[in-house]
Amino acid sequence: MVNIPKDVAEILRRLNAAGHEAWCVGGCVRDSLLGRTPEDWDVTTGALPEETLALFGRQALPTGLKHGTVTVRTARGGVEVTTYRVDGTYRDHRRPDSVTFTRSLEEDLQRRDFTVNAMAMGPDGVIRDPFGGQADLAAGILRCVGVPDKRFDEDALRILRALRFAAVLGFAIEEDTAGSIHRNKALLADIAAERIQVELFKLLCGKNVLAVLRSYPDVMGVFWPEVLPMVGLDQRNHHHCYDVWEHTIHAVAAVPPEPELRCAALLHDIGKPDTFTVDENGVGHFRGHAAVSEELADGMLRRLKCSTEFRETVVRLVEWHDRDIPRTDKAVRRALGKLGERDLRRLIALKRADNLAQSPAYFGRQRELDKGEAILNRLLAADTCFSLKQLAVNGKDLTEMGVFGPEVGRLLNALLDRVLDGDLPNERDTLLTALKHL
Ligand code: ATP
Ligand code: MG
Repeated sequence: MVNIPKDVAEILRRLNAAGHEAWCVGGCVRDSLLGRTPEDWDVTTGALPEETLALFGRQALPTGLKHGTVTVRTARGGVEVTTYRVDGTYRDHRRPDSVTFTRSLEEDLQRRDFTVNAMAMGPDGVIRDPFGGQADLAAGILRCVGVPDKRFDEDALRILRALRFAAVLGFAIEEDTAGSIHRNKALLADIAAERIQVELFKLLCGKNVLAVLRSYPDVMGVFWPEVLPMVGLDQRNHHHCYDVWEHTIHAVAAVPPEPELRCAALLHDIGKPDTFTVDENGVGHFRGHAAVSEELADGMLRRLKCSTEFRETVVRLVEWHDRDIPRTDKAVRRALGKLGERDLRRLIALKRADNLAQSPAYFGRQRELDKGEAILNRLLAADTCFSLKQLAVNGKDLTEMGVFGPEVGRLLNALLDRVLDGDLPNERDTLLTALKHL
C-alpha cells in the first residue's frame, strides 16, 4: 500500500468531510505505484474552485483559477488542488480554448495524456483506473488515453512528453501511439521553445535515452534539424564502429545524467556532417569539426531559449571535447584556470563517454583520462592556485604600489600565468618582488 504524505492526506480528508470527492492524481500515483518518489503530489476534486478556496481559507491561494487550480499551502510547500475538468476544443495545438468543470472523476481522467498518468488514488489507497493504467505500468507501456492522432493534435507537447516518459521510465511506446508520434511530429513547431526545453532535458537525462534517441531522431529534427544529417552518416574511419548518430547517442548515454553534460554529448559532433571529407585512401575525416559543432550548438541552444549560463557551459564543453586531455601539472592547472573544477570534471566525463562510443580498440585512452583526473585530484587536494581569486596578491596590493586601471588586470594575469606554469610559487612576498620586475 502506498503512503500518501500526511499533508496531502489531510487535504483529501477535509475535502471529503465537506462532502466532496478528492483524489491524488497523475504523476504522483504513477510514481508511487512504481516505487519511485513523486516530485509533487497533485489533487483532483469534485469541489469547485470557490468551494476549495472557501474550505481552506487563508491556507488557499487562487493560483490558476481559470483552469480550476487552487494551491493549498502546507508545511512541505504547496499542493495543487484542481477541480475535475473537461478540456474544450483545441485550435492551436497547445491549449484548450476553454475548460469546463465537471463532477465526474472519469471525465477528468480522460483529458489526461497517457494511461499511466490517468489514474487516481483515494485516501484509503483505492485506485481508480478506467483506462488500464495499472496494466500498462506493469508491462512498461506508454499509451495515449484515447485516439493518439487526436490527442497529439490537441496538444503537440504530448509528443515530446511521450518520449520523455519513455526515456525516464524505461517504457516502450505502444505501436499506435508511436506511429502517431512520427506522423504528427511537425505540430511541435507550434510549441514554445521553453516548454520544449523542459521536456527535452528530462528526456536526455532518462535512463532509456539511447533507445528513444535511436527511434525518434525525426522528432528532435523538428526543432533541431541540425541533428538529421548525423543519422546514418558512415564515418569511414577505423576509430569508429558506429555512424555519427549512433556514436552520438552512445556518448549521451555514457555521460552522467545531468542536462549540461547530456546536451554537450548530444551536440559534440553536430559539426561532423558539414566537415566530412574522404581522402584518396577512402578514409573519412572531420577536420575542424569541433569549431563547427561549437557554432551550431550555440545557435541551437539560443533557439531553445536556454539560459546564458547553460548555453555557455555546453558550448565550452563542445569546443574543448576534441582537445588532448591535460596530463601534466602545468596543463591541468591551465585547464583549471580556464574551465574551473566543475567544468573540467565535466570535460573529463565527456571525453570518457566520447571514447567509449568509439571502437573498443581505442578504449586504452581511458587510462590517459585516469591520469589527468589523478593529477586534478592531487592538485585540488593540495589547494593549488589556478585562478585570480586564489592568487596570493590582489588588486589592492597593486593599487598600493601605484598601479591603476587596466594595468592591474594585466599584471595580475601575468603573475597568474607564471604561477600556473610553475615558474613562481603562489607566495605573497615572492609575487610582490616579481611584480617589481614585470
Ligand atoms: P512529473 O511531475 O514527474 O514531471 P507528471 O506526470 O506529474 O510528471 P506534470 O506535468 O506534473 O507531469 O502533470 C501532472 C499530470 O497532469 C500528468 O500526470 C497528466 O495526468 C496531466 N498532464 C500534464 N500535462 C498534460 C498534457 N499536456 N496533456 C494531458 N495531460 C497532461
Ligand atoms: Mg507532476
